[in-house]
Amino acid sequence: MEPFAAIAAGLTAIDGATKTVKLVMGAEKAFSQAELKLELVEVMSALADAKEQVLDARSALQEKDIEITELRKALERKADLIHVRDVYYEKDADGNPTGSPHCSRCFEVDGLAIHIVSVPGKGNSMACPKCKHVYLKHLRFGPDSDTTEEDELNKSVFVVPLTR
Ligand SMILES: [Zn+2]
Repeated sequence: MEPFAAIAAGLTAIDGATKTVKLVMGAEKAFSQAELKLELVEVMSALADAKEQVLDARSALQEKDIEITELRKALERKADLIHVRDVYYEKDADGNPTGSPHCSRCFEVDGLAIHIVSVPGKGNSMACPKCKHVYLKHLRFGPDSDTTEEDELNKSVFVVPLTR
């Protein structure tokens, strides 16, 4: 349940309990022991319901906290990654792409930085191990890259032309 709906349901249950208590306290007649017990059972039941709703709201809010944390991390990663053609790379100190390519789909849809990997037997293809999206092969940048320094300077980094 959404936290606001759970909180509203919890407040309704507390209202119910309060009304019952007021009714008993404001009554002209004296309640018998058995009648009082019955009213108390009603109050206890409403309070138990309220407790359950509050616990529901708490767990829904905890889930939202986790989601917010993940979104914040994704935003931080977004600042650290650079979009080059159809994939993302980490940025070096100068803001140039470095390292291995990351899956665009996973990054843009789920906020996850997943490295794409070579597909065995398909030299011109790389794939995302998570979402299985297939990409044309992209080279690595940086110290253990597949490119020469000159290639990097020219940013001519793609093995195959991007026309399909
Ligand atoms: Zn992916």
